[in-house]
Amino acid sequence: MKILICNDDGYQAPGIAALHGALRTLDGVEVEVVAPEHNNSAKSNALTLHSPLYVHTAHNGFRYVNGTPADCVHIALTGLLGYRPDLVVSGINNGANMGDDTIYSGTVGAAMEGYLFGIPAIAFSQVDKGWSELEAAAAKAREIVAQILGQQLAGAAPWLLNVNIPNMPLAALRPAKVCRLGRRHAAERVIVQQSPRGESMYWIGGAGPAKDDAEGTDFHATAQGHVSITPLKVDLTDHDSMGDWAQTVSRLAAGG
Ligand code: MN
Repeated sequence: MKILICNDDGYQAPGIAALHGALRTLDGVEVEVVAPEHNNSAKSNALTLHSPLYVHTAHNGFRYVNGTPADCVHIALTGLLGYRPDLVVSGINNGANMGDDTIYSGTVGAAMEGYLFGIPAIAFSQVDKGWSELEAAAAKAREIVAQILGQQLAGAAPWLLNVNIPNMPLAALRPAKVCRLGRRHAAERVIVQQSPRGESMYWIGGAGPAKDDAEGTDFHATAQGHVSITPLKVDLTDHDSMGDWAQTVSRLAAGG
């Protein structure tokens, strides 16, 4: 069983070291890291098309790339590895990827790249930034991966899981719950500063607080101390509104 590990916080982040350290102890499992050289949070599924990518190997054997999370998984799967991994695991991210975060997340983007290549994939994030209780999160990630391998779900038809783990000691974490994504409010205001040369600089503001955190969402489950697991798909089609739009479009075609 071969697992490709990636993240978006960069190959030197504590989260990927903890994840690698935990997964490498699984029986019959080989793990390999290909991760971004620098922090690529919020790079989603971006690929680098207009500049070359270089791969270097760190002292600990992790390979790092001057590109995005999706670049790392993409080049790993299309030639760098020389084999097809059974599972792609991304993280552990420094902070939550819940609700609409999943659209922007490079952690999810890396996992999604594996999924798009037909390989089962999991994105792991800790709910709070700062790496508190990271070893507990890594142990929980190991437990989830072990369970999935035990059920022969890796190497089969692809699926994509988004997992958020509260920053709590392992014994205090409540059981994993399958959840839908919640929603956040619109993001906070842009932050404007003056550059030393008198120009306005704009900094993207923080993600807003949860707007839909009702029971059944990832926000609700993690607030109660549960590990949230959301199965994701990539089809963005609004299936419910296709009928309405078909009527609108048929009126257009009729010249009405
Ligand atoms: Mn990140």
